[in-house]
Amino acid sequence: MSTLVIKDLHVKIEDKEILKGVNLTINTGEIHAIMGPNGTGKSTLASAIMGHPKYEVTSGSVTLDGEDVLEMEVDERARAGLFLGMQYPSEISGVTNADFMRSAINARREEGEEISLMKFIRELDSKMETLDMDQEMAQRYLNEGFSGGEKKRNEILQLMMIKPTFAILDEIDSGLDIDALKVVSEGINQMKGESFGCLIITHYQRLLNYITPDHVHVMMQGRVVKSGGKDLALKLEAEGYDWIKTELGIED
Ligand code: ADP
Ligand code: MG
Ligand code: MG
Repeated sequence: MSTLVIKDLHVKIEDKEILKGVNLTINTGEIHAIMGPNGTGKSTLASAIMGHPKYEVTSGSVTLDGEDVLEMEVDERARAGLFLGMQYPSEISGVTNADFMRSAINARREEGEEISLMKFIRELDSKMETLDMDQEMAQRYLNEGFSGGEKKRNEILQLMMIKPTFAILDEIDSGLDIDALKVVSEGINQMKGESFGCLIITHYQRLLNYITPDHVHVMMQGRVVKSGGKDLALKLEAEGYDWIKTELGIED
């Protein structure tokens, strides 16, 4: 089993403290969801773990099986087994989607243990079929001219091919129609297993109609203020966030 531990994480953007002590532990085999109102720091958490230069970690730690993630370069984080949804959103001309995935897979393997081209193609074909993606997407340059929905599907394709230990998926559901949402959820559900842990960040509970989280957390004002099971997401859907504010005595 692997464990990702976020401990008392404080993060600043341009001198403004956004995360004020986030604590979260994710084990492989578990799917966690973070929900919360807009502007509470959910994406900041993802960006800080990913190592975005704009986000300054002022205290606290992020460790993967005891290894200090915040000390790693961004590509080292990927090699250590972290997959961060927004890590590869930009268009990269001259690198096909398939090439990118194959090198990402091989970057995590020992020399001489690289995936064979045949095996790679077979697996790619079958995953693309699961995700209802056009085969032609594999040969396109990375994210070049991908629509919003195609980028999201592609992100799940990358996830399924690279098979990270932990994935942090920020707003994977935003802008998806219901068919795409089902397909993306199916991909994440297929990944579920004892060697994979996932943190799904979402503003809406509708994604959680298709993916059943083991743990649901509420983030408010830069902290995880409440944790529970999947029932918590349903309660938030039905009642919003005000009852938590009242419970905790949080002012807007
Ligand atoms: P959420 O994902 O929960 O909606 P964010 O993490 O995106 O929230 O934002 C939290 C706070 O940080 C907001 O007040 C937002 O305006 C601010 N913020 C986020 N990113 C930046 C940035 N790059 N520059 C300045 N402020 C930012
Ligand atoms: Mg905040
Ligand atoms: Mg966000």
